[in-house]
Amino acid sequence: MKPMEKVKKIETSNKKTPLRMCISCRTMFPQKELLRIVKTKDNAVMIAKSSKVNGRSAYCCRNKECIEKVISKHLIDKHFSMSVPDGVYEALKKEMN
Ligand SMILES: [Zn+2]
Repeated sequence: MKPMEKVKKIETSNKKTPLRMCISCRTMFPQKELLRIVKTKDNAVMIAKSSKVNGRSAYCCRNKECIEKVISKHLIDKHFSMSVPDGVYEALKKEMN
């Protein structure tokens, strides 16, 4: 019984939550707590509601100050080195509530 329990414990502890950095405050957070903004292969930028959306990602934590900074300083533009449509920032603003 004991060895089995040990194996189970190791498996659980190996399941690390991936950490990602907020592009605004540059703090690491568990990925699932962050808003994910994705740039797809077609250079479309969107807020990804599921992890199934593929592409380059930018992450922002849910602090109001962080989201406001991302919007006012256009940090997504800088992250993706492109001009991000205002609609993306509008959508981000809505996530604040
Ligand atoms: Zn942040």
